[in-house]
Formats: sequence, C-alpha cells, structure tokens
Amino acid sequence: MGLIFLFIVIVLFGVSGLFYINRLSEEGRQVLKNNQESLLYCNRMLQSLEELRTEKNALDVFQDNLKKQQGNITEIGEREATDELAKNFNEMLIDPTDSSNYIDIRRSIYKIQDLNELAILRKNAIAQRTAESATNVLTIVFTILTLVSFTFIFNLPGIISGPISSLSEGILAIAGKNYKKRIYLRQGDEFGDLANAFNIMAGKLDEYESSNLAKIKFEKSRIETIINQMRDGIIGLDEKRNILFLNAVSEKLLGLKETEISGQYAPDIALKNDLMRTLLRDDPEKKDLKIYADNKESYFSKDVLEVTNNTEIIGQVIVLRNITPFHELNEAKTNFIATVSHELKTPISSIKMSARLLTDLRVGQLNGEQQELIRSITDDADRLLKITGELLNMSQVETGNIQLKLQPADPATIVDQAVQAVLFQAQQKGIRIHAAVADDLPLIQADVEKTSWVLINFLTNAIKYSPDQSGVEVAVYRSEDKVEFLVTDHGKGIDEKYLPRIFERYFKVPGTHDRNGTGLGLSISKEFIEAQGGHIWVSSQVGEGSRFGFRLTAA
Ligand code: ADP
Repeated sequence: MGLIFLFIVIVLFGVSGLFYINRLSEEGRQVLKNNQESLLYCNRMLQSLEELRTEKNALDVFQDNLKKQQGNITEIGEREATDELAKNFNEMLIDPTDSSNYIDIRRSIYKIQDLNELAILRKNAIAQRTAESATNVLTIVFTILTLVSFTFIFNLPGIISGPISSLSEGILAIAGKNYKKRIYLRQGDEFGDLANAFNIMAGKLDEYESSNLAKIKFEKSRIETIINQMRDGIIGLDEKRNILFLNAVSEKLLGLKETEISGQYAPDIALKNDLMRTLLRDDPEKKDLKIYADNKESYFSKDVLEVTNNTEIIGQVIVLRNITPFHELNEAKTNFIATVSHELKTPISSIKMSARLLTDLRVGQLNGEQQELIRSITDDADRLLKITGELLNMSQVETGNIQLKLQPADPATIVDQAVQAVLFQAQQKGIRIHAAVADDLPLIQADVEKTSWVLINFLTNAIKYSPDQSGVEVAVYRSEDKVEFLVTDHGKGIDEKYLPRIFERYFKVPGTHDRNGTGLGLSISKEFIEAQGGHIWVSSQVGEGSRFGFRLTAA
C-alpha cells in the first residue's frame, strides 16, 4: 500500500507539473508566433520606409514584410489595420511624392504594433494567471501529499512493528512454556494469518503438554503408591536437603506428617526430632537403629542413596530397611549358640577329666599308642573348650549381657597372668616373649579376667602367626591418665586392605589356614575393651609383623 501510494504521488505530481509546464510554454510560443513576429514585420516595414530613398531594395523589403504580416493576422482589428496599411502603401506607390501617404502608412503600422503589443500584455497576464493557478494547484497537491506522507511515515512503522512485537512476545511466552498464550490480531493480512498459525501451534503444544502432564501425574501417583506400600521407611531430600516426601512407614517412625514438613530444611527438623538427627548424621560404623514405634521395638538399617542426574547430585533418598525379622532370627541364633555352648562345656570338661584320669597309673598302664590317643583327646577337648568359651563370650556380647567386674587392678599382674597362660604354647615354637612393663604404672579400672583374656588372645595370635624361634614383645606404659598395652610380633603381618575389617565378627584374613580359629577372638576383644570404656587398635605391615594395642583408664 505504501509503495502504491508513493507511485500515485509521483504520477500525480509529474502529470500536473507537466500539464502546467506545457500550458505555459504553449502560451509563450503563441505570444512569440502571433504577436512578436507581427512586431518584427512592423519594425522592418518602418525601417524600410525610412530607407526608401537611399536603399534600392527597401521597397521589396517593405512589400515582403507586408505580405508576411498579411499572413499573420491573429488579433481582432488587425486585419482592418493591415488592409488599411496595404491600401496606404498602394496609394504611396501611385504618388510617392505625397508625404501624407507616408504618414498614413506609419499610422497603420503603429496601429498594428499597438494591437500586438496590447495582445502581448494581455497574453502575458493570462500566462501569469496560469502560472499562479499552477502554483496554487501544485501547492495544494503538495500539501495534501505531504500530509498523507507524514501520516504514512508515522503510522506505517507502527502498522508493521505492532504485530511483529505481539508475535515476538507470543514466541517468548511459548519459549517460557506458557502454552496458554494466544495472539489476537484483527487484520486480514499476512500478519493476521501468521497470528492464526501461531494460535494453532500454541493450541497443539498446550494439548500435548496437558496429555504429558496427565501421564506424569499418573506415573507420580503410581510411584507414590508403591513407596507408601513399602515396609521400609523412605525419605526423599532435594539437593539443598529440603524434605521432598516421606512414606507412611517413615511418617510413623518420625512421628511427623509429610504435609507438615514437606519442603522444610531437614536439619531444622532434626533440631526437634531425634530420629531425623540420627538419620542425617554420617555414621561410618553403620550401626542398626533400634526404634520404638507403634508400641513395639523395631530394628532398621539406614541406607543413604544419592540421586544423580548426569553425575550431578540432585538429591538423597534415605532408606530405613526394616530388619526386625533378621534381628529376631539373629537373637534366636545367639540364644541357641549360648545354650549349646553352655550345655557343651560340662560334657567337654568331663571328657577332659576322664582323659586325665585315664593317664593315672592307678587306672592301669597305657601303651604308647593309647597315651597318644589320650593326648589327642585332651587337645581336642581343649580346643572345643576354647571354641565354646569364645562362642559363649560372643553370645554374651551380642545379647548385651557382659557382666563386668570393674575394680582397680595392677597392669603388671594382668601381663604376668597372660604371659604365663601362653608360655607353653610359645615354648613349643621356640618363641621368646619379652615383657617390658613400666615402673610408674598406676592401677587401672578394669575387669581383670576379661582384660587378660584380651591380652591372651593377642599373644596367642602373635605366636600363631610368627615364625619359629622369633620374638614377641609385650609393652605396657602410661600415656597421660591411661595405660596402654601393646603386643608386637614379627610374623607375616596383615594386608592393609583387611585391617578395617579385622575386628569384625567371624572375619579371618583370606588364606589363613588355621583350623582352630573362629574369627571371633578379636571381635570379642574389641567388645570387652570398649565395654570397659577403653580403645583397641591394630597396625601392621605385610612381612614385617603386627602390633595390637588397647588402652584403659587409670583407676
Ligand atoms: P582367630 O580366632 O581366627 O584367630 P581372631 O579374631 O583372633 O580370630 O583373628 C582374626 C584374623 O586376624 C585371623 O584369622 C588372622 O588371619 C588375623 N590375625 C590376627 N592376629 C594376627 C597377627 N598377629 N598376625 C597376623 N594375622 C593376624
């Protein structure tokens, strides 16, 4: 439209300009042709009249110009004046001496001149008017076109940019996932079509989004149902540790409702909730949790799973696995072991006793083979007693039934007792036990029997895993208000990777060929020492030997 308008402007202006220029030039030409030429003929006739006597061809010039004038009659009265001139000229030819004829000729010529000059003035006035009206018309056309052009200049960008900006606004809304956005352009041009196409696209996207949302909602409620039906407690946290969800079990355990705490910062809740505090704490030992809920005691193991998205952690799921049935089974097993080992102790002791009686000469003389058999029965009975003893200790530890007889005790006595107990075993392998007990030792607050049991266990292991003819050192010294016991051997040592597991129940270093070992000794030792408020540790290097130690508080 803009271009069409500009074209019309150019055509209109050009046509009207041309029209007026044409008209003005036509009028000018007419003036030249009609009147200016007549004036020229008149001037020439006047001049040749002056030269009649002096110039031979003056008469011819006159006649020639008279003829031309007769052929250029344009004004009213010009014909009569020209005819009169011709008549006067003829009379002058008849009587050239009569001077009145010359006067008449001149008068006629002047008349023709006047007529033409007046005509020139008149025509000039007409041309003036034409020029004025041309100026007026062109000024009006110019003003109108200028006004229209200005409105175009001011409105045209708006007409184009208005729809473009509402379209780009719409596209930005779609990019921001606002699929409800529509554009309303009430115009039947290309912009209107574009807006319609945009609205159709937004409608389709909206439809797609709604159907996807419904699907996601369905999946969400399905997963929620599954999580809620689980017997394990499940708590979801986001990357900032805000609570996302709790299932029914964890609601019961925590005594909190999901609706109450959802979206809250978990450590804030932990301030008022003990279980939440335990759950958020990093627990390297991974102890089972004993939780009293629903009027009964239940056991749970805590598992923290990181939720990741392309290696980026976007949250955590804390799983509280209900291990109560396993606990109950474990308890039954421990009770069974305790009962069996307790019941076995008496018959084994009586086997030992009977074997000793058999070696008594009063019972009868035994041959060498019989003596060997009896020694083997005694060894096996000893081994069985050790094993049942350990199993009994272990079951006591597991059921939490350790009976401690804490009293001030002399560390040197404990060391003596332990060394005496393993002396025979050491001698058999030619191992020397060197005990270095510091002089300034205070008494310790300890259960003597259990502490020597631990030291005997350390020494037995040291002898067991040392080469023949080597040495084992026992060192006891004071460290601030504690007393430390160390047993060092120069045996095969323990691989670094097994050290963290060495105090675990039933753990034996792979490749250990020890028929008598149960893998319980060190775990019981740890329980005994920790029950007395002490600390136990190990350091070892393969090929160099091992050092086991514990410390107890001075009395
Ligand atoms: P066990 O009754 O089988 O000896 P322990 O709990 O006393 O059980 O020891 C666990 C494991 O630790 C053993 O099987 C052995 O492999 C390793 N171990 C204990 N003490 C030593 C030591 N002084 N040197 C090398 N290995 C040892």
